[in-house]
Amino acid sequence: MSSEMSNHPRPPCSVGPQKSIFGLGTPGSSCVAVPEIDVPDIDLDALLGESRREGPPVLPHVTEVEVMRHYSHLAQMNFGVDSGFYPLGSCTMKYNPRINEDAARLEGFSGLHPYQPEKTVQGALRLMVELSEALAEISGLPGVTLQPAAGAHGELTALMCFRAAHEAAGDPRKKVILPDTAHGTNPATVAMGGWDVVTVPSNDQGLVDLDALKAVLDTDVAAFMLTNPNTLGLFDPQIQEITEAVHAVGAFAYCDGANLNAVLGKSRPGDQGFDALHINLHKTFSTPHGGGGPGAGPVCVSGDLAHYLPSPLPVRVADGEFSTLQLGTSVGRVRSFFGNFGVLVKAYAYIKALGAEGLEEVSEQAVLSANYLKEQLKEVFDLPYDRTCMHEFVLSGTRFKAEGVRTLDIAKRLLDYGFHSPTVYFPSIVDEAIMIEPTETESVSTLDGFVEAMRAIADEAVRDPDIVRSAPHTTPVRRLDEVRAARDPHLRWSPTQ
Ligand SMILES: *Cc1c(COP(=O)(O)O)cnc(C)c1O
Repeated sequence: MSSEMSNHPRPPCSVGPQKSIFGLGTPGSSCVAVPEIDVPDIDLDALLGESRREGPPVLPHVTEVEVMRHYSHLAQMNFGVDSGFYPLGSCTMKYNPRINEDAARLEGFSGLHPYQPEKTVQGALRLMVELSEALAEISGLPGVTLQPAAGAHGELTALMCFRAAHEAAGDPRKKVILPDTAHGTNPATVAMGGWDVVTVPSNDQGLVDLDALKAVLDTDVAAFMLTNPNTLGLFDPQIQEITEAVHAVGAFAYCDGANLNAVLGKSRPGDQGFDALHINLHKTFSTPHGGGGPGAGPVCVSGDLAHYLPSPLPVRVADGEFSTLQLGTSVGRVRSFFGNFGVLVKAYAYIKALGAEGLEEVSEQAVLSANYLKEQLKEVFDLPYDRTCMHEFVLSGTRFKAEGVRTLDIAKRLLDYGFHSPTVYFPSIVDEAIMIEPTETESVSTLDGFVEAMRAIADEAVRDPDIVRSAPHTTPVRRLDEVRAARDPHLRWSPTQ
């Protein structure tokens, strides 16, 4: 790397390409030592007959240390929040304190079976009840289900409750309205539930165009879904007017709570007039994500909607005693048992450890970090909506198009400087979007290192565009065909590969 490059320490992701484990080792080596046989020897052929495997199993011939190194090496080829700064906008890739993992692994939790009698799982029920109470307080919405497995699943769960309420009132409705800044899961949820998607444009400030919204609100609208602060990282100050207009036609106001990290203890979706909200525990409340592991998307609803929630619900029956409640009017289960219980334990531990003041500080720090970065980066990139932001902001890489450098190239070049890319090309209303969310867990020196890297890349894009266009140069793999990886995955290994 040249001397102008960031002096920020690189994460150890520059290990070389990796052989499959079958390409390692030496024939005959092994990492298992089987004890002498101490039972009568029997003839397997006679016992299994035709069903016996034809040859020995195809297993790698590796020693224990080779296995260890193989998997450590694979882990280092990846980029995670534990290896470096990961400012992936909308995703809240904050550091997840390890102590929460310890809590989730406590044998009293991890060893439970969901069919155990209730009186033997009082602690787990209490944890779920207290977590629900905390989420109700944070959101300002009293009804809570912990079942949904992710944010998108929470969206669907809430819309199912809206449908149940409309149908119960003899007023089924067909349309759901979204702003053009909506996350892709919003229209996907709406389409999956069989509603029609109606999109309203944003105004020139990046907020809901209230007139455009009012123009499409009618009595066939089931709901309006809004992320607030929105995906441009902007809090919509018209929110009360918006939710009132939505309610005026008998529709529900849904808050996509993916950006809750910006407003903890500061502003409650319930107080803003929303009827329902999902919370991504794996974003705001400290569960590692990004690798496809389990998350959770609890849904909080107003008192009027609470009896439609998925059941059974964990409930407090008497002081110190806990049980479950079946609701006759429930939309039904959306997930087996109680959802992803381990994730609930982590969120509970995190909320209890920080307390109300700590949670407020999370949002204050997250917002401060984002504004700190925004102010420095707006000199070298375009900032289409130049206002105080919340926990994230969206730059544009348009000015580099003239050099043939696209936002994707800048994102890839960041890997050479030791940083994960921000979210790119979302929200789609910003040309060449670069959406940056630093989170509260990064130090000033890390943020400064990122600014330095972004400035260096902006400089390269003009002076030496080829180096940016051909990035990354230092990673185990270069540019991958991501679409093909998703559409045509090769998951089966064969010894000839
Ligand atoms: C992450 C995200 C979602 C979807 O949440 P998942 O937990 O990934 O299903 C929805 N909306 C926004 C704004 C998000 O950032």
